[in-house]
Amino acid sequence: MGNFLSFLKLSIIIIIIYWLVESTSESYSTFKHKLTPKKYRREIQTDTHYVCWTGGYDSTFRVCQLIHAGKRVQPIYLSMDDVDDDKNGLIRVQRKNKKNELQSMEKIRHLLKEIYPQATHLLLPTLYINKLVDPNLEIQKCASYLYSKLGWFSRKVNQYERILQIAFKLSEPLEICVENSDDGLGQSIKNFVVGVERNCRLTNKLPDEYKCACIFGLARFPVIHLTKEDMWEIAIKDGYETMLVHSWSCWNPIMVKGKSLPCGTCDMCRHRIKLF
Ligand SMILES: [Zn+2]
Repeated sequence: MGNFLSFLKLSIIIIIIYWLVESTSESYSTFKHKLTPKKYRREIQTDTHYVCWTGGYDSTFRVCQLIHAGKRVQPIYLSMDDVDDDKNGLIRVQRKNKKNELQSMEKIRHLLKEIYPQATHLLLPTLYINKLVDPNLEIQKCASYLYSKLGWFSRKVNQYERILQIAFKLSEPLEICVENSDDGLGQSIKNFVVGVERNCRLTNKLPDEYKCACIFGLARFPVIHLTKEDMWEIAIKDGYETMLVHSWSCWNPIMVKGKSLPCGTCDMCRHRIKLF
């Protein structure tokens, strides 16, 4: 009898602890039942292409490809400083290459207008996003799950979560220029996309454990079927490879004689060296 009472007490304590933990931290299995993927799917209503342009290789390729094809482009640039955190999620990393990215985009915009006079009208002034007001908590939660459980992002706070927040606030899908690669988001997402170019988007039929990826429903992946080498070949064929040379990829620029230069050793630099 004594043993039974002890067992009963222990069981009650366990139930209370479980209830306390459950009520404070919602588990993914309960959370995902509340997710409504449909609200993240939106059809494209306009001719304008909303492109996340960083001045980097992939997004610059996309901007040039669209201008070359006579399409109107609305570039969007995240200019807040706390776009990424460090690998341990402890501190926000201040971007070291923001100035370089902005300079590259200005230069490329100028060069594009020289080659394509219609770019004056087609390439709209960049929208700079300085602050995210009232972020969607569900997107935050899903992005956190994609980072911690599925490894889709290398950092807890990352630019993609911000981009998805912006896409949610816009009434149009946003083009995210992720290349065809065997690492990073490109690798994770390419197994779940349907369609090509502007219509390349996440499938509506996500496996249950990937349901939280529905927050990418507003994203389009126009270059996910292309490698950097493919983009380089297309750019040469269409005559805008100079723009790619002027794009800025380096994460850690170095100062040499008062001039900011690519470091030549980070992942982004190494990939470029193979091309140019
Ligand atoms: Zn570098």
